[in-house]
Amino acid sequence: MGKPTGFKEFQRETIPYRLPLVRIDDYQEIYTTPSDEHLATQGARCMDCGVPFCQSTTGCPIDNLIPEWNDLVYRGRWEEALERLQKTNNFPEFTGRVCPAPCEGACVLGITNPPVTIKNIESTIVNRGFDNGWIKPEPPESRTGKKVAVVGSGPAGLAAADQLNSVGHEVTVYERADRIGGLLMYGIPNMKLEKNDVLRRVGLMEEEGVKFVTNANVGVDVCPKELMDNNDAVLLATGATNPRNLPIPGRELNGIHFAMEFLTANTKSLMDSNLEDGNFISAEGKKVVVIGGGDTGTDCIATSLRHGATSIVNLEIVPRPPEGRADNNPWPQWPRIYRVDYGHEEVAAKWGEDPRDYSVESVEFIADDNGNVKAIKVAQVDWSKPVENGPPFSRVEGSEKIIEADLVLLAMGFLGPEQYILDAFGESVETDGRSNYKADHGEFKTSVDGLFAAGDCRRGQSLVVWAINEGRGAARAIDGYLVGKSTLPAPGTTMGSPLQPS
Ligand SMILES: Cc1cc2nc3c(=O)[nH]c(=O)nc-3n(C[C@H](O)[C@H](O)[C@H](O)COP(=O)(O)OP(=O)(O)OC[C@H]3O[C@@H](n4cnc5c(N)ncnc54)[C@H](O)[C@@H]3O)c2cc1C
Ligand code: SF4
Repeated sequence: MGKPTGFKEFQRETIPYRLPLVRIDDYQEIYTTPSDEHLATQGARCMDCGVPFCQSTTGCPIDNLIPEWNDLVYRGRWEEALERLQKTNNFPEFTGRVCPAPCEGACVLGITNPPVTIKNIESTIVNRGFDNGWIKPEPPESRTGKKVAVVGSGPAGLAAADQLNSVGHEVTVYERADRIGGLLMYGIPNMKLEKNDVLRRVGLMEEEGVKFVTNANVGVDVCPKELMDNNDAVLLATGATNPRNLPIPGRELNGIHFAMEFLTANTKSLMDSNLEDGNFISAEGKKVVVIGGGDTGTDCIATSLRHGATSIVNLEIVPRPPEGRADNNPWPQWPRIYRVDYGHEEVAAKWGEDPRDYSVESVEFIADDNGNVKAIKVAQVDWSKPVENGPPFSRVEGSEKIIEADLVLLAMGFLGPEQYILDAFGESVETDGRSNYKADHGEFKTSVDGLFAAGDCRRGQSLVVWAINEGRGAARAIDGYLVGKSTLPAPGTTMGSPLQPS
């Protein structure tokens, strides 16, 4: 344990983001670099609990050895902290930046005080590891001669590939996009995760022997049967890329897009040409309405702001969460409380007001004379009055209002993997009631022999850290399938945390 009285002496202090009005002028990461002293003090707050709930079923899904590295950071033993961190997490540079930190929601200190700043400590350990050259390619000493194909290069596919390669299997990752990384590349914007961070990890994995094939759409460019025939096992890690639609009158108008059309094109254009090729949906000079909250909605807000939107409204159908935990949401569950994310903070800094409007239902889109959206009609809803045999809320009579909009972004979540992949693999691949690939956590095997599934395509839309959990678990299952008994670790719990952002 760091300092036995640290939790009493020191207050929680998170590492601040760059100033909102400065950072909205660029696409660089929002984070700042803390001093050694800051981190030692924050590490000293860890109580090294007898039962570290930060690692429990509601805490870290990959069993990060949190109290150990908190103590090592307090003592300034950074390289050892990195060694502990890498035991459980293939990509701490991703989770250290983008994870909502369920570990902090479950931290025991959080019962009476603000929790330990676990995520800040994690990201600093891995940043130092890279800066000091401690993270080097570690190819396996020998090869097994077994071949595995991974379909999809998001965090689930990458974690599985990393683990399988480490025990000597020959792994090829197929990705339909032109760059590797899944939503780490073309989803989460640069401000939260710079793409060089992703490229650096992919480069390391290549040096370790993992092969990557881009522009390879399995089911279109690559024949699933050939993939199955030419490999000893295949892992589907195709993500939950099917967006939820909003089928209200006027949905067909110009200027209404799914969030991912907007975010993906922006990152691609940014990487290809620093936005000079014009191949993106611009919010410049537009009144933007983002429908749906969560990470996706926030990323749309922050990107629109950087384009130069003239106004931004974010509509949420759910009620505004409470400031503190509700009675039915006790510790160590993930706290479902009101939070201000980076995009909300930026809008408030620019225009003096948070962009979110709660308990609002979209009624219809309104057109101009040229078939473009010019406004959206919305109504207030009351969650205390559910409709019998209908929605869990009712519309408040006379509450309709019109919000001007010439760019509408739909960020209402995702509905599992896309159907064409399933069709290409054949009817024998079963799905569950939510249209995800059917495979139990821990086993990860689908109804087809040799075909496995992991990540958002199996569990539904989730988090990067859960994708890593699933990729690691699937690797262990596949290794066991190939060689009889796996030496790879079984990560995390089989329980899902209630935290599922959209
Ligand atoms: C905008 C946005 C922001 C988010 N922000 C956060 C955040 O801040 N923190 C957090 O923890 N989580 C966040 N998430 C969720 C997180 O990104 C996902 O849970 C995670 O990436 C899922 O990983 P995955 O590997 O299962 O799938 P994905 O990352 O979706 O990767 C799947 C990959 O498979 C590829 N693919 C699909 N079909 C085929 C095919 N037939 N052939 C070849 N390739 C194929 C896709 O192109 C994609 O690259 C966010 C999600 C979104 C959409
Ligand atoms: S629960 Fe919090 S205080 Fe306890 S070991 Fe984990 S990080 Fe430290």
